[in-house]
Amino acid sequence: MTEIHIYGASWCPDCRRAKRFLSDQRIPFGWHDVDQEPQALGVVQERNGGNNVIPTIVFPDGSDLSEPTNEELAHKLGLSRMAMQHVYDLVVIGGGPTGLTTSIYTARENLRTLIVDSKGLGGQAGVTERLDNYPGFPEGVGGAELADRIVQQARRYGVEMLQAISVTQITSDGDELDVETATGDHYHARAALVATGSSYRRTGAEGEDDLIGAGIHFCATCDGPFYKASDQLVVLGGGNSGLEEGLFLTEFSQRVTIVERGERLKGNKVLQDKIAMHPRMEVLLNQAVERFVPKPDGSGKLGAIELRDLDTGRLVELHPAGVFVFIGLDPNTEVVKGQVDLDDRGFIVTDMGMQTSIPGVFAAGDVRSGSTKQLASAVGEGAAAAIAIRQFLESKAVQP
Ligand SMILES: Cc1cc2nc3c(=O)[nH]c(=O)nc-3n(C[C@H](O)[C@H](O)[C@H](O)COP(=O)(O)OP(=O)(O)OC[C@H]3O[C@@H](n4cnc5c(N)ncnc54)[C@H](O)[C@@H]3O)c2cc1C
Repeated sequence: MTEIHIYGASWCPDCRRAKRFLSDQRIPFGWHDVDQEPQALGVVQERNGGNNVIPTIVFPDGSDLSEPTNEELAHKLGLSRMAMQHVYDLVVIGGGPTGLTTSIYTARENLRTLIVDSKGLGGQAGVTERLDNYPGFPEGVGGAELADRIVQQARRYGVEMLQAISVTQITSDGDELDVETATGDHYHARAALVATGSSYRRTGAEGEDDLIGAGIHFCATCDGPFYKASDQLVVLGGGNSGLEEGLFLTEFSQRVTIVERGERLKGNKVLQDKIAMHPRMEVLLNQAVERFVPKPDGSGKLGAIELRDLDTGRLVELHPAGVFVFIGLDPNTEVVKGQVDLDDRGFIVTDMGMQTSIPGVFAAGDVRSGSTKQLASAVGEGAAAAIAIRQFLESKAVQP
């Protein structure tokens, strides 16, 4: 049941920030647009002495906050802002499946472990509607449920966890590491794991945020099978990923349409030839995504995608069963930028033992160069990193 209610407007940036903050923490809320619901404006005025102050957020205990900062929201929601100690054996940056798995292993071996996550614990898995290819769940499992289970398991072993706090920097004095957070706190660690994942680039078009997982997807291996026997799927992006994944999606759909913003496809010649010869694939060039439109039946699912022809300005509406976005993937490496070796796509390079070019700083999961961007691999890399970290700490302990 939704217990938190946000009153605001679609044009209000602070309202979008507050919605994003709650979504990031996977906290359900009701959204009331003051431009659409006359009674919503009444609530806002009643709560603000007759003034129109948005967002106004009403909590289950009946209290409210008007135009709160993220800090104020975190405080109200009871999220810890500071860890209990200043010194840890391991600080894990990123509480996705990778970081959580590492922490279960290390805390279980009595290493003092702190996880710091900039959003909500569970990472991308936590915001995935359904996972059908993670072993052990024959009927599939909801991403949020799986994430909650991993978090509970980490809690059971005493892992300390902070959420809604970004790590801004890791520095090494050659022996210990200093992990600095956006709140200005510093934690000392004997080792650190960077498990910050990567972010799929979005189009930024109207309607996109609300339809992610409900018709808009970023992973064909993960979500393609949901569209078995569909009439049409659209792939946004004509680079190698878009073309490869588009070919793969023909297994599920009668027709796959590749939409590219530029004047030509950017993927390699072999892939381009395969697509040109494929009887059930087509390519639309010079098309910009104008907006994503939900179905009118109130299901909250994707109904249409509107494209603008950049040559003629003409708008075209397609009605695919799903849209797969492959316009790039950015590794979240701000925290170590300029300090550790990165590959040519910006992912962190490690040795076989997940060690980066800074001794004591490890990297695993989607942020690591060569990772497969799959949950089962992320969990596996998390376990491998834990073992490598344990060995590193043991070798440090015996050094004179
Ligand atoms: C929509 C979607 C559907 C998917 N479906 C499937 C599927 O069906 N099957 C499958 O196997 N895989 C799927 N995946 C991929 C899978 O979720 C990822 O491979 C997995 O979550 C990677 O785990 P990770 O811990 O390495 O990174 P993430 O899950 O990305 O977690 C990284 C965490 O680090 C945090 N972080 C980033 N920067 C900082 C910072 N500076 N300070 C602190 N914290 C930070 C982030 O907030 C995030 O919580 C899907 C991914 C997406 C996006």
